[in-house]
Amino acid sequence: MPRIRQLDAATITRIAAGEVIERPASVLKELLENSLDAGATRIDIDLESGGIDLLRVVDNGGGIPADELALALAPHATSKLNSSDDLFKLRTLGFRGEALASIGGVAKVVLQSRPPDQAHGAEIQCDGSVCSAVRPWGGAVGTRIEVRHLFYSVPARKKFLKAIPTELGQCCEVVTRVALANPETHIVLRHNLKTVYELPATTQLTDRIGLFFGAEIRDALYRIDSGPTLPGLSGYVADPACDRGNAKLQYMFVNGRWFRDRSLSFALQDAYRGLLMTGRYPVGFLFLKVDPESVDINVHPTKAEVRFRESSVIFSLVRGIVKTRLLKESLIPNLEAPAPVFATLPIRPMPSAEPFSPRRALAEATPAAWEVTSRTIAPTIEAEPIAIESTPPPEPEPPTIPQTLFPIPTLLPGSVLQVQDTYLVAETPKGMLVIDQHALHERILYEQLRERVKSGKLEVQRLLIPEPIDLPADQAAMILEVKDALAELGLEISDFGGNTILLSSYPTLLSRRPPHEIFRGVVDELMTKDRVPAKEALFDHLLATMACKAAVKAGDRLSQEEITHLMQLRQLAEDSHHCPHGRPTSLLFSRTELDRQFRRI
Ligand code: ADP
Ligand code: MG
Repeated sequence: MPRIRQLDAATITRIAAGEVIERPASVLKELLENSLDAGATRIDIDLESGGIDLLRVVDNGGGIPADELALALAPHATSKLNSSDDLFKLRTLGFRGEALASIGGVAKVVLQSRPPDQAHGAEIQCDGSVCSAVRPWGGAVGTRIEVRHLFYSVPARKKFLKAIPTELGQCCEVVTRVALANPETHIVLRHNLKTVYELPATTQLTDRIGLFFGAEIRDALYRIDSGPTLPGLSGYVADPACDRGNAKLQYMFVNGRWFRDRSLSFALQDAYRGLLMTGRYPVGFLFLKVDPESVDINVHPTKAEVRFRESSVIFSLVRGIVKTRLLKESLIPNLEAPAPVFATLPIRPMPSAEPFSPRRALAEATPAAWEVTSRTIAPTIEAEPIAIESTPPPEPEPPTIPQTLFPIPTLLPGSVLQVQDTYLVAETPKGMLVIDQHALHERILYEQLRERVKSGKLEVQRLLIPEPIDLPADQAAMILEVKDALAELGLEISDFGGNTILLSSYPTLLSRRPPHEIFRGVVDELMTKDRVPAKEALFDHLLATMACKAAVKAGDRLSQEEITHLMQLRQLAEDSHHCPHGRPTSLLFSRTELDRQFRRI
């Protein structure tokens, strides 16, 4: 049996670092918090290779006296706690005294600092927990810390780092959170000497929101403020029209510290109830102010989560304040008042194909021809209706439709009825077919797109003037990472600099919706993933997303022409029974089933 021994200091530090320091962004977060705790009004950040090769933070804060430099890099050494009681009334961002020691244990660190009352500064170097002697340093007031070659001494951890754009994106996200919480601090971020953010000090949070997320959001914000009592909530929430496909644009802070909390995200979502479609998320910037004694910050290694003593009070505060504010705008729930927006825009027929006429196709087709082209024609005559619940019937497939996964019910002549601007109802020999218009159109577009991409025949519409799209830096970085895949899907993008992406083309097939809407949908979809999926999966996701974005929606009033065309395209679909996400597109209520329900039998 191996003997129990006490670990040496270097191992202890590396273990601790494993909890706090995961990637360049976590180093950056710790350094920025130190600068803010030191009262800095200006912070300059320089990164090289996503922060992996170099991460430098220079501040003009209170500095560290020469005789404390070595201590700053020692484990469990902090100037922010006097006794353990202080843990429950924290007013600083840091308090554990382990960040610098942890960073020093896994990288090469140079720490230089000069307090304002000193004529000269001092510096120290630390290389995998081994510190140099303290030497004089001739720099300006404040602290300058350089972290090079992160994880050079821990190759196992280095392997887990992602591509440079991803690491850079994470660093940008850290800067975004810090900058939103501290608008009065001037912050500059450069990557490989190129400026990513230049954020001058401001008293207006909306300036920063505009810089990060664009004018569209900045101009659609409603201010919230619960007043001076504690706990209090202030900040901004965006108009429901600015909704997003994920919750990434929800930022929450407590006493100036960013945190995440699923229950409070739910409170925010609940405040928008009735104003958003399912699957859509509001945009919000929420700043909670609570008595430091009523929140425990020390529950998560990187302090990303906190625990409120009275969590239900905080929940009601968030929901209540946001809801009241939205009510004041008397926003009309758009779910109950759908506008017939697309009455004038016909669903586009497949551009390369002639308009499809089942009648003509039937008249022209000979049984022999059906064997070959049957997928497009035969189902209309031979197929049996599907069973209720959209499960395939047990009987064998008719031999004339070899490529169709499920038999398609024959529709009887006559018009199809649109109900609630959402469902299409048609009669079949077996009963009544109810079709989800969005799910069906989505399926059709998905198949058309997929086929064209596969055969290299995707028609692409070039934009006369490329459309600039502002994205948060991490999203811009991630999108540029999959630039080539997007180009194959007809979405050509290029880096315009800053956080702007230029969109210069889109698939003609999707021209029903504005290109930027399709593009935003793709971005949202990618952002729900932790990493960029492998190519096959990526294509599939993106095709499904693009189809979903471009398809008619629940709530779109369709003209009779559009309905007819949609029903024709339905006959061409390979699997017209499921949308790309696997939901059924139609349900059959058989005569027998209806009779049973009405107690006729
Ligand atoms: P903590 O922030 O939890 O105290 P750190 O390891 O991050 O622990 O920092 C250790 C100490 O070094 C801090 O308590 C602070 O006194 C000092 N320090 C670190 N960075 C700075 C800075 N940028 N300016 C002034 N003092 C700093
Ligand atoms: Mg710290």
